[in-house]
Amino acid sequence: MLTNAPRGTKDVLPDQIHKWHYIEEKFDSLCERYGFREVRTPVFEHTELFKRGVGDTTDIVQKEMYTFNDLGNRSITLRPEGTSPVVRAFTEHKEFANPQPTKYYYNIQCCRYEKPQAGRLREFHQFGVESFGSSNMMADAEIISMAYDFINELGIKDVELQINSVGCPHCRQKHRDALKAFLKPKYDKLCKTCQDRFDTNPMRILDCKSPEDQKLIQGAPMMLDYLCDECADAFEQLKANLDAMKIEYVVNPKIVRGLDYYTKTAFEFVTTTIGAQGTVCGGGRYDGLVEQIGGPATPGVGWGMGKERILLTMEACGCEFPEPKATDVFIAFMGDEAKAVALGLVADLRRKGLSVAMDVVGRNIKNQFKLANRVNAKKTVVIGENEIKENKFTIKDMATSEQTEVAMEELAEVLMK
Ligand code: ATP
Ligand code: MG
Repeated sequence: MLTNAPRGTKDVLPDQIHKWHYIEEKFDSLCERYGFREVRTPVFEHTELFKRGVGDTTDIVQKEMYTFNDLGNRSITLRPEGTSPVVRAFTEHKEFANPQPTKYYYNIQCCRYEKPQAGRLREFHQFGVESFGSSNMMADAEIISMAYDFINELGIKDVELQINSVGCPHCRQKHRDALKAFLKPKYDKLCKTCQDRFDTNPMRILDCKSPEDQKLIQGAPMMLDYLCDECADAFEQLKANLDAMKIEYVVNPKIVRGLDYYTKTAFEFVTTTIGAQGTVCGGGRYDGLVEQIGGPATPGVGWGMGKERILLTMEACGCEFPEPKATDVFIAFMGDEAKAVALGLVADLRRKGLSVAMDVVGRNIKNQFKLANRVNAKKTVVIGENEIKENKFTIKDMATSEQTEVAMEELAEVLMK
């Protein structure tokens, strides 16, 4: 028990961390190019924020949150998603008073009490972006383009962008009525989750993963056929903007973000390479959300992308990761006097910016060389009594076995070359 991590969590060990660093650096650079700036919010928030911001009828709020009372008896929830905290920060710090849009990105972990399986964890990691202050479909196209570029830059193939519109509170009501009328005779055959959604959030029944339910909803009324003029026009503009940016997509009328304050654009990037949990990125427009949380009415659009799923997809597609960084120099030593010289040299070289390794366990010289191989050192230097006495040190290039003899004063300079 003590030596097992909680169910649904995963350690990332140092031999895998270069993959995480790689995608994180790529993401930072992507966001910089698009003019998005990083925001960091707390790992926990008042429970009420998520109830309001995610919605009382959602799976997240109903059964997936890590909620507890802290010692001051406040109800606290570990962040299950990234949008609500960013909306809270945007409002709290009056960022709406600046010229809009405000474009944020974040790199966070989220906690949801879900059933763990491949691509589904209880603590998972997300990249996310949010763009506030524009109702123009250019903002939607801009963030979709970011996800599209990112996926391509990572070398991921077989991912499809699927787009839809979920309309607005005005046109959604008509669709909701039609959908409920269509589903009513089939109610008894729907899965338990969908039965629960029938009254609270019927649109979500459309994206139920159960094959039986998928059969039942064949021929169901789709939101796209119920859009009001404004929403229909926005969807046409979105498609035109994506075309102009040479972004390929398919329209999938079953993609939903089924909450009142989600409006118009909904989209997902989906892959078939990693099994059932194939949505690597999901997002959409949420024009009612800032106001819902207590800020001034402000349009917004954003997405979240699961890092574990991105990494799984990259591995499934055989994407290349850069090799972990090698050690520049290994300093070996023999004897106490040499140890002091070696310690001084190592400290000096590290301060000058080289990546330097030495044994700190007390290995004999033979085992120090083994260690040099293990840390993949490009060069080694041996320090012994003779070398110190004659002020002659040999730098050995581990790839070519070439040896160069230099004095202590020149060592750093030669190694830095
Ligand atoms: P799903 O339908 O896959 O459950 P979701 O609609 O709950 O996704 P969002 O809240 O939109 O997901 O989160 C954005 C992204 O975060 C998802 O597209 C997915 O890549 C990732 N994600 C969501 N939940 C998990 C989880 N439990 N474990 C790992 N990744 C997750
Ligand atoms: Mg989910």
